[in-house]
Amino acid sequence: MEVFLPSVAEELLREIKRSYQETSQISDEHLLGLKFIFGPTALYALDLVDQRSVTHVTSPSGRSTFQVTGSSGKLYTCYKACHYCSCPAFSYTVLRRGDSLVCKHLLAVYLSQALGVCQEVTVSDKQLSDILLTKED
Ligand SMILES: [Zn+2]
Repeated sequence: MEVFLPSVAEELLREIKRSYQETSQISDEHLLGLKFIFGPTALYALDLVDQRSVTHVTSPSGRSTFQVTGSSGKLYTCYKACHYCSCPAFSYTVLRRGDSLVCKHLLAVYLSQALGVCQEVTVSDKQLSDILLTKED
């Protein structure tokens, strides 16, 4: 995330991580910060985090990806390493228009990691390649 998010966002995620480890909650100040930086996306992402929608999928060779179950139940693949999500909102508002820094899924990935609430799943290398090669639309 060092490369893709502005440093103020990185710093906020680090602070949230630190205080969540101590208090097991996100302070109002941090919530405001998230809303300030990410806009309405922050709330949708927090919903996804609440519902434990983020799964960290790893394979024996050390490759990994994230899968996020969207609000409609559809599964999206997020690549934190290259800051990419397979959802239409990411293509449109982040890549094409540059209106947003992230979509809700990718932000949910960053937040779930900061809070330590990702579901961890290990799959075979073959299964991981299948996930990575799946075309979702
Ligand atoms: Zn997305």
